[in-house]
Amino acid sequence: MKIIPLGIWGGYPKANSATSSFLIEDKGFHLLLDCGSGVLSSLQNYISIDELDAVILTHFHHDHVADIGPLQYSKLIQSQLNNDVKTLPIYAPNHEKDFFQKLTFNKHTKGKVLEENKEYAIGPFVIHTIKTTHPAYCLAIKLTVEGQSVVFTADTEWFVELGSFSSMVDLLISESNLYKSFEGQIPGHMSGRQAGLLAKEAKVKKLILTHLPHFGELNQLVAEAKQNYKGEVEIAKVGKSYFLSN
Ligand SMILES: [Zn+2]
Repeated sequence: MKIIPLGIWGGYPKANSATSSFLIEDKGFHLLLDCGSGVLSSLQNYISIDELDAVILTHFHHDHVADIGPLQYSKLIQSQLNNDVKTLPIYAPNHEKDFFQKLTFNKHTKGKVLEENKEYAIGPFVIHTIKTTHPAYCLAIKLTVEGQSVVFTADTEWFVELGSFSSMVDLLISESNLYKSFEGQIPGHMSGRQAGLLAKEAKVKKLILTHLPHFGELNQLVAEAKQNYKGEVEIAKVGKSYFLSN
C-alpha cells in the first residue's frame, strides 16, 4: 500500500497547496480520501483524474469536500470527449441528505453510503469505520491490506474509543489542528500532544500529523506529540510516498 499526502491544511489551503487529503494506492487501485480545496489540482501531479477508482469522504465540511463539484465536471468533460466512461463511486456518510444526494451526478459519479462501525471492501482495501467527535457527523477510517493497516482519524477531538480503533496499526495519520495551549478552547479537533497520546495508547508503529493550523511553528506539534509517543513522528509531507508492506 502506498499513501501520498495531497494536502495537509485544515480549513483552507495555503498558496499552491490543498487541504488535508490522501491518495492511497494498492495493486493499481487508486483511492482518494477526502476531496477538499486544492485537492483536484494536487492529485494531478501524481495520476490523471480518470485513474481514480473510488473516493471516500469522511464528512461534509468544506475543507473535505470543496472539490467534489469540479471532480464531477472533470468526469463530465472527459465523457463528452469519449475519454472517460467509468462511474466513480463516492463513499460518504449520508447524514446530510442534501449533500449526499449531490454525490450522484448522472452516470459520472455515484454516492454510496458509509456507516459507522461497519466493514467494507473497496478495491483491495478492507475498510473499517468509527464515528468521531466533531461538529459535523464524521467517520475515522481504517484501511487494511494483507495485514498492513493505516488509520486516518479524520476530524475529531479526543475520544477514548479511537485508541482501540487504532490499536497496533502500522501507521496512524492523525489530525493535529491545535497547539497544546488551545486544547479545550476549540471543539472538534486534537492537539499534537493528543495525537501523540493516541499513538502511544494505540501502540502504533508510526505517527504522521495532518490537518494543520495556519499559524505558529509546525515543528512544535511534533515536539508536543513526542512528549507522549516515543515512536517516529513527522508532519505529513505533500508528494512523499509512504509505503506499508510486509
Ligand atoms: Zn471538519
